[in-house]
Amino acid sequence: MDKTLCRYHPAQPATWQCLPCERSFGDCCIPLNADAPDELPVCPLCNVQLQFLGAANTAQPFWERIPSFFLYGLQGGPMTFAVLLALASLFMPQSLILWGCLFSVATKYFHSVIEASCQAGSQAPSLLSAFSPEGFSLFFRQLVVFAIAFGALWLAADFNSEALYWAVTLGILLAMPASIIRLALDKELGAALSPDQVGQVMRAMGWRYLILCAFLFILWQSPGWVTHMLSSGLPRVVLVPIAAFLFAYFGVVMCAMMGYAVFQYQGALGYVIADENGQASYPTAEYQRRRALAQAEIRLKEGQSGQALETLAAALERNDHDIRLNERFHQLLFGLRERSRCLRHLSHYLPLAARLNPSLAATALLNARQLQADYLPEDAQVCEVVAEALLQRHKTREALSLLRNLHQRFPSYPHIPRAYLLAARGFAEGLGQVEPAQKLLTFILTRYPQSPLLVEVRALQTTLAKLTTQA
Ligand SMILES: [Zn+2]
Ligand SMILES: [Zn+2]
Repeated sequence: MDKTLCRYHPAQPATWQCLPCERSFGDCCIPLNADAPDELPVCPLCNVQLQFLGAANTAQPFWERIPSFFLYGLQGGPMTFAVLLALASLFMPQSLILWGCLFSVATKYFHSVIEASCQAGSQAPSLLSAFSPEGFSLFFRQLVVFAIAFGALWLAADFNSEALYWAVTLGILLAMPASIIRLALDKELGAALSPDQVGQVMRAMGWRYLILCAFLFILWQSPGWVTHMLSSGLPRVVLVPIAAFLFAYFGVVMCAMMGYAVFQYQGALGYVIADENGQASYPTAEYQRRRALAQAEIRLKEGQSGQALETLAAALERNDHDIRLNERFHQLLFGLRERSRCLRHLSHYLPLAARLNPSLAATALLNARQLQADYLPEDAQVCEVVAEALLQRHKTREALSLLRNLHQRFPSYPHIPRAYLLAARGFAEGLGQVEPAQKLLTFILTRYPQSPLLVEVRALQTTLAKLTTQA
């Protein structure tokens, strides 16, 4: 089964689907409203309610999670279960009824592990859940499945053909995990025995089902190998509980792996299971902001730039101080060469960006100059901040044009000395023009003798003086 991806972000797995317009969306495009968790999201294009795809496309493959299954078996629930089995193997009397009860508890516990891990839960079920009275019939159903499997093996052994015997063994080994998964999911004997239903599990996983089988086979054999290695010299009284303990532990690991395989292949198996961590959802204001940004991007990628603009304009009406929304709106207007609208928006956007993100303001100013060559912000502070950001980008001429005649354009601006010191540095360092820099410094010294920046002004003056004498 191939993963479905977000139509607009091919690196993101799809989590939602719109049936009418046949588009898949990732979480990237569909933010959720934390203040209205029951509200189902709608398609950004046709406004129809979206279908949730669950974690089918986001799930990590089970073969990349092998260590986590071994850790899973080390939790409190599985450990008590393993200890219980070990103790029972030592102390329980030889009573068929008692052993039958123990096996049913064990089967129930294994099945609850499969169920829990097919929700991708990292918490193992507690052992107590295996003692609850409901669901014991599951044990009998599992028993029937095992009995049929053993019956088939027994029959095959009767035929005196090694090839037939191995064929049947292999067939059972291959079918068993799928059958157990089917029983855990549907709780019906019919489903666990139906070749069609069991085959569906295999088809859903494809050749990767073989990886699952191989791992399960290794795990199934491990308790035997370990006890075989230990068996030299150890007495029965030690060996039997160790074997029982390992059987329980590896059983839980196997079930956790099978359960997770269901989680991973839920789409192909016809289930919808959300990730334990759930999807990110946001408070209403943030949700609206993200939705507007995502919708505008989708509209733009669909070639509907007009609608993209309107989406952003509507979002800006609610929240006109959001820098991201403003930036997207500006870039879109500029990209579409909507000259007058872009310039009008700049009178709002430029002061905002100068305050929150001068680098964005510098970009916006360079854009503005392309639309109107003599564009100047209407605020002295904005001019100074943007000029500084432009100087950092080595856009010296553009920066200096913002500072030219600042004292005449904004006579009441209190930071003229600071702005002119910046301009002097621009002339000297950016353009290598010492003379205009010196003029500016002299201007500061004569016009603003009270300025706290005089020390810096004199220092720069001295440096420039040295430069001219050397030259
Ligand atoms: Zn749609
Ligand atoms: Zn997306």
